[in-house]
Amino acid sequence: MSPTPVTFTPPAPLTAYEWEATNEEVARRYGVPIERIARFDLNTSPSAPDVAERALAAGRLETGLSEYPPSDYRLLVEAAAARYGASPDELLVGAGADEILDIVTKAFLPAGGTAVLPSPTYAMYRVLSEQRRATVRSVPRLSASAGYAFDAPAIRESAQGADLVWLCSPNNPTGLAEPPGAIARLLEGLLVDAAAAGAQPALVVLDEAYAEFVPESLLDLRRAYPRFVAVRTLSKAYGLAGLRVGFAVASPATIAELAPYRPPGSVSVVSVTIGTAALLDAEATKTNLERVVRERARLAAGLAAAGWSIGPSVTNFLLAGFGTPERAAAVAEALLRRGLVPRTFGPRQALSDHLRLTVRDAAENERLIDAAREIRGETTA
Ligand code: PMP
Repeated sequence: MSPTPVTFTPPAPLTAYEWEATNEEVARRYGVPIERIARFDLNTSPSAPDVAERALAAGRLETGLSEYPPSDYRLLVEAAAARYGASPDELLVGAGADEILDIVTKAFLPAGGTAVLPSPTYAMYRVLSEQRRATVRSVPRLSASAGYAFDAPAIRESAQGADLVWLCSPNNPTGLAEPPGAIARLLEGLLVDAAAAGAQPALVVLDEAYAEFVPESLLDLRRAYPRFVAVRTLSKAYGLAGLRVGFAVASPATIAELAPYRPPGSVSVVSVTIGTAALLDAEATKTNLERVVRERARLAAGLAAAGWSIGPSVTNFLLAGFGTPERAAAVAEALLRRGLVPRTFGPRQALSDHLRLTVRDAAENERLIDAAREIRGETTA
């Protein structure tokens, strides 16, 4: 007797993270000299803080390059603990916030589980949830005039029986934080709902990649809500995206649940050394934050004067609306021809009629403003 054939249903295709074109691709496609390309798409800083160069020049790596970094990243963890007002057992180190998000997903979103996210938000939450073949409940945010705040009642509703809730404040790509107290109230509501249902509350991830740009820190919520992971990074306010250093901040019990998913040495010796120095240097973010605040106002005013519709932002990027996806795409193309790379949103995404633009230095921002003036002439002709 022949064995019964077994058939497999192929899994639905996953959503991959989509980048904009690389410098080399832009140079080739548009004939722009590579040194003239300016990245307005990545929410990074145009330069690293001085402390990075000083740490490298001192030539004292924590361990030699022939060795792995210390297995517990002790000095980095202690520096981050002091900076964030946490204890070392409340921290987990990752290769950027992205690795922390990956570790959190593995630890807390079971295969085939359910994740909730306010939309639009950082694309990786969907990518990671889909990797787990999870059901993603996408809850639309309120309107631009309501600051794109999350819809708390709808999130509470969707979080019933869910495993994980993705929050991001200040939110990428909308550029604004949730109103003061809104996240604390949502967490209280989730606890009430879970108690009423006799269920465990969903794990809440609060991605605070842009936290240093706003006065309010929400790290203390780890004490009020037991299943809470905040995510921090050195990529944004610290201007050190190339290091790839990020942290989870959570209760010791939650960190202990994340720990088994941490790769042994994903953060390099060079990154550990510079990251530690940056966290210990009270001035490390200051110059960058001042630049962002100054240039953000100048860039927003310049682009608005050129006729672009620019939303308010507390972060190091602006969101520009163009009315239709076609017009946003035409503007993106016109920018790329000038070597200026904006962040675009695919045709099926909520903000497909918008472009996201990083606040860069004065010279690059000036090029963007000049381009906006010229493009208006070209595309309205
Ligand atoms: N979270 C958000 C909201 C982000 O915008 C980004 C960077 N684009 C990340 C996480 C990833 O940051 P990192 O460089 O630390 O991996």
